[in-house]
Amino acid sequence: MSFFKWVSLIFTLHLFGPTPIFSYSSVSSNGLLEIPTKFLDFAKKPELVDYMVSVRRKIHENPELGYEEFETSKLIRTELDKMGIPYKYPISVTGVLGFVGTGGPPFVAIRADMDALPMQEMVEWEHKSKIPGKMHACGHDAHVAMLLGAAKTLQAHSEELKGTVVLVFQPAEEGGGGAKKMIDAGALENVAAIFGLHVAPELPIGEVSSRPGPLLAGSGFFEALISGKGGHAAIPQHSIDPILAASNVIVSLQHLVSREADPLDSQVVTVAKFQGGGAFNVIPDSVTIGGTFRAFSKESFMQLRQRIEEVITGQAAVQRCSATVDFLAKEKPFFPATINNKDLHPHFQNVAADMLGIHNVKGMQPLMGSEDFAFYQEEIPGYFFFLGMKNETDEKPASVHSPYFKVNEDALPYGAALHASLAARYLLEKSELTAPLPEGKHHDEL
Ligand SMILES: [Zn+2]
Ligand SMILES: [Zn+2]
Repeated sequence: MSFFKWVSLIFTLHLFGPTPIFSYSSVSSNGLLEIPTKFLDFAKKPELVDYMVSVRRKIHENPELGYEEFETSKLIRTELDKMGIPYKYPISVTGVLGFVGTGGPPFVAIRADMDALPMQEMVEWEHKSKIPGKMHACGHDAHVAMLLGAAKTLQAHSEELKGTVVLVFQPAEEGGGGAKKMIDAGALENVAAIFGLHVAPELPIGEVSSRPGPLLAGSGFFEALISGKGGHAAIPQHSIDPILAASNVIVSLQHLVSREADPLDSQVVTVAKFQGGGAFNVIPDSVTIGGTFRAFSKESFMQLRQRIEEVITGQAAVQRCSATVDFLAKEKPFFPATINNKDLHPHFQNVAADMLGIHNVKGMQPLMGSEDFAFYQEEIPGYFFFLGMKNETDEKPASVHSPYFKVNEDALPYGAALHASLAARYLLEKSELTAPLPEGKHHDEL
């Protein structure tokens, strides 16, 4: 975010500062309080549930990787056409931007990611992935179905919307930085705030969890080629062994977090890839290692990045090897930390509590996982939360990115209704707050 945007944001917040941005007293008279329950009742209607289930299953059967979501994107556009919702396409290769409401300001966005993972599904069921080696193991199929469910809900109540809801269907969340490309293509133009959710297998159905401030870590990837000199495994003195060098590199990398980082500033360095050699009696020429690093602050993140490079090249040199380090910034851009806007937190809590009951709106500790939703939050106020889908009978549900991951489709109406309610109520509340400002007090004139 540029300095001027910060100034503008701070000034805007200051203007609204003394009174809570979303106060209950001002919203009780005009139906705002009823929106969450009304929308949940709507989303739970059998025809809408069946619709979302069938959309989700169709996408699940045909998983597509980042920037290849052509059929998924086509399905979304076909459904928006049927609903009579205008959209822009293509945005960032396969992305779609739908618009529900007045077509004018204010604009608020709700977002779903569309991409699958390069892994084989191990769940045996009727709608198992039909594409070998590809699977919706992160629930993005459900996210798309929920956003289409929200679109139906909002369209059915479009005359009540006090502005425009922007439906953001983005490609390539899984490492491809699809959100960044959507922003570069103008997806957030004039948008005042954005909401996003992720299904959570461990959280009971009917519950949501989140927190204000840092929620998920910033993340980056690295890959290193450590080169020595190959030869016969029985005559090591004639070789320079990159396997031993890589092993020492990996051990040294583990000292970055344990010895150099503030123990109270959570960070992770994981080497998840080690490829070298193919025979029992050959020392290979080179070894490739790769992994990920995580931190919550930009400063800690950049420090890790610098030290990872120094440790790999320095430690490889100790063993007479050379090393090159690639941070894959093009294919896998660094994700910033997911930081929830503090002023949107009460809005989320109020809407979720009105729908689910305050006891089902949980706080949580930050997680070291990451989300490219963070890119949106660098530009405009944004809020991300987790949506429960665990049934009482599920003993130990498989986590996201597991080949045994399953979506509980009973969660679909909750996701749709929350998306729709967060957006609709944001617009209504904002419209109440946008009484003309006194002369010379508009933040654009700073
Ligand atoms: Zn994922
Ligand atoms: Zn995901």
